[in-house]
Amino acid sequence: MNVFELAKTPSVVNQYMAEIRDEKIQRDRFRFRENIKRIGFALAYELSKTLTYNLRLVNTPMAVAEVPVPSDTPVVASILRAGVPLHIGVLDVFDGADNAFISAYRDVEEDHSFEVKVEYMASPDLTDRHVLLCDPMLATGQSMVLAYEALLSHGKPKRVDCLSVIASREGVEYAQEHLKGIGDLYVAAIDPDMNAKKYIVPGLGDAGDLAFGVKK
Ligand code: URA
Repeated sequence: MNVFELAKTPSVVNQYMAEIRDEKIQRDRFRFRENIKRIGFALAYELSKTLTYNLRLVNTPMAVAEVPVPSDTPVVASILRAGVPLHIGVLDVFDGADNAFISAYRDVEEDHSFEVKVEYMASPDLTDRHVLLCDPMLATGQSMVLAYEALLSHGKPKRVDCLSVIASREGVEYAQEHLKGIGDLYVAAIDPDMNAKKYIVPGLGDAGDLAFGVKK
């Protein structure tokens, strides 16, 4: 699994990243969701450079243009609920994509240990499809791996690329170990640490709560 980290190259994505991390700016839920969508768009655009393309002949009002267009329609698969804005950003790039949704949540014990539970999935047949698996916060990596395993119940994809906004170093290593050979990881930034509750540090806090409000 190759890792493409957008923050390594100076671009406007870092402005969006600064805003979603900033404890004052991130309180504006609308702006937070829009920034996550813009980062999803940038990640998907980066990934689009690796696809295969077929030449299409397009009739313009003047002549015929030869335009290389993607030869394949991907499936965008996202982990609920935090993955929704990222999903929309990726879908804005691949507007004809099919879609899959998986629920994954942390069942937390008093000592902060937790088990990630996957309970719901809605997906097309994934046999031989190219899946773009979106999880905005790749913290421990468990949700991403469990979501991937859940997807397999709907057929074996030909390739699965993973897209995240922020990953922890540990999460990247976990994904590389458990998702070997399935595809690559596209991430806007990789952070060094996690706290005792397995939130990414410096990170941004709880992406689901920031996008949609605090859950009970
Ligand atoms: N989920 C989040 O929303 N934030 C983290 O830092 C880790 C998991």
